Amino acid sequence: MTDLRQHAEEIAEQFSDHLDVTPDEVEERLENLVEEYRVPVDEARRSVVNSYLDDAGLERDAIRASGSGGGLVEVATIDEDEAWVDLKTKVVDLWDPGHESIAQVGLLGDESGTIKFVSFQTSELPKLEEGAAYSLKNVVTDEYQGTYSVKLNRTTEITELDEEIEVGDDSTEVEGALVDIQSGSGLIKRCPEEDCTRVLQNGRCSEHGSVEGEFDLRIKGVLDDGEAVHEVIFDKETTEELTGVTLEEAKQQAMDALDTTVVADEMRASVLGRYYRVAGPTLGRYVLVNDFETLTEPADAESALIKARSI
Ligand SMILES: [Zn+2]
Repeated sequence: MTDLRQHAEEIAEQFSDHLDVTPDEVEERLENLVEEYRVPVDEARRSVVNSYLDDAGLERDAIRASGSGGGLVEVATIDEDEAWVDLKTKVVDLWDPGHESIAQVGLLGDESGTIKFVSFQTSELPKLEEGAAYSLKNVVTDEYQGTYSVKLNRTTEITELDEEIEVGDDSTEVEGALVDIQSGSGLIKRCPEEDCTRVLQNGRCSEHGSVEGEFDLRIKGVLDDGEAVHEVIFDKETTEELTGVTLEEAKQQAMDALDTTVVADEMRASVLGRYYRVAGPTLGRYVLVNDFETLTEPADAESALIKARSI
């Protein structure tokens, strides 16, 4: 089989789910570019693939970029957008997908650190389990405001591994004025289904529909150090410690008021504008607070205070 024939068969295979295209047609187009126009094979291949992507109305990552994979990499070394890589990782955390098109979103880790991942409903992939280790072949890197993540796609090959993967510590520390407490804070309800724990919206889980939720406490906050803002999440334990309000007390507050939102309002009143130093692992754009301390003075009191007042 000639080189071009092989490329043609691979391309036809890539688009077999999307277009009615035969290896012969693809080969003809490649041949035309390579022999007629003296285009290098790689470039010809890219050009032909792009034109089929247009025909199919697809994004590049919807199809297998055969031969363009970057091979096995460690998550912390990812520093390029739209690169195809393979990972050997452990699922460190899964969280609320937040949108019906998203099948799973969470955090993958290996020795080098952690990285956010997303998989989409349309890719019809098997679900990853929290705590399990996987070989993930053909994932695509993504960059947003300097932070990298990976997207699983329909060509991603998922193999569960029977081994323990150590996840590197990429704990960070940030400090500043707590200038905002976001919606979804205070007394929340989580889906009780096993391994779900999604936060319910109006009594509904995005995966399991209407369920009897379980109460939990959480604060999604914003720390402003005067130069940048950092989104932080306090879990039940650290929220109780931060606010001095236990889950039981929060439930009582909500029952007395016949309204769960009073809890977040009370928390706002007691902690907004104060200065904290927090430390914990990075989860996507959030720092998950494991430890915190209350500071008496901000590093840059003036600008943090101005920001705090303006919110
Ligand atoms: Zn659920």
